[in-house]
Amino acid sequence: MATLKIENLNKVYPNGVKALDNVSIEISNGMFGLLGPNGAGKSSLMRTLATLQEADSGTAFLNDIDILNNPLELRKVLGYLPQEFGVYPKITAEQLLDHIAILKGITNNKERKELVNYLLQKVNLYEQRSKSVKGFSGGMKQRVGIAQALIGNPQLIIVDEPTAGLDPGERNRFHNLLADVGQDVVIILSTHIVDDVRELCSNMAIMNLGQLVYQGSPNNVLQELKGKVWQKSIERTQVAEYQKNYQVISDKMVAGNPLIHVLSESNPGDGFEQVEPNLEDVFFTKINN
Ligand code: ADP
Repeated sequence: MATLKIENLNKVYPNGVKALDNVSIEISNGMFGLLGPNGAGKSSLMRTLATLQEADSGTAFLNDIDILNNPLELRKVLGYLPQEFGVYPKITAEQLLDHIAILKGITNNKERKELVNYLLQKVNLYEQRSKSVKGFSGGMKQRVGIAQALIGNPQLIIVDEPTAGLDPGERNRFHNLLADVGQDVVIILSTHIVDDVRELCSNMAIMNLGQLVYQGSPNNVLQELKGKVWQKSIERTQVAEYQKNYQVISDKMVAGNPLIHVLSESNPGDGFEQVEPNLEDVFFTKINN
């Protein structure tokens, strides 16, 4: 059982960008989705929690570990899969995991060998264990990344934009792997992909411009929008006009024409039909407020 408690975290970069604006949140075990558009501040928050950069002010605790003041303690129980998992060109998957296990303090050779074998099997790379990671596909590299993040029984696992660049099959496998990790640890999945959160997370937050603009469960926030989302297929030339007259939360092309979703307490008429709100509606509503 683990709990991550973040209070009033702030970070301004030297160029004046306020990447974290008084971020406070409590996250308990299970899979937590941190959703936000590019530039929202997700990586800044993830890197701060992974002790790779400092905050200007605020506190962050994993159970009783003071993350900001005691980074060495945190690293012992942290599994981190960064946005870009750096690959060691001429090293095999087995060697790479073995090397990281040494870095994480697993000095007993037999124990380490067993652990590495176990992880290679778990991420379905055992057959490829003697091949160079350099030649791996994006999905295979991600699996090496998650395997290394699992070394050392982490209590906090942070995965930053894990599915960007994966094909649908690889993405499914990655999701299954994460869902398998266990319920006793805090897993934070940072992503701009709404489906990642919908498929995996029972709790979530939405971040925009350095602030948390929503936190709760996907189901609760969908309830908030129930009965208020209306859709209509329009002509491409009409998008601007509809944006002026309605609170358009999204427009996307469906079969060659824009399908717009608008937010309205009552039936807007004009050929709109009510639809069940989806997480994408939530996302756009929250970040455009
Ligand atoms: P996200 O992960 O949600 O895309 P980031 O945390 O990477 O967001 O970035 C948040 C904001 O901070 C963006 O405006 C980004 O340009 C800026 N930023 C990120 N890293 C740095 C840095 N090292 N120096 C200056 N600005 C940065």
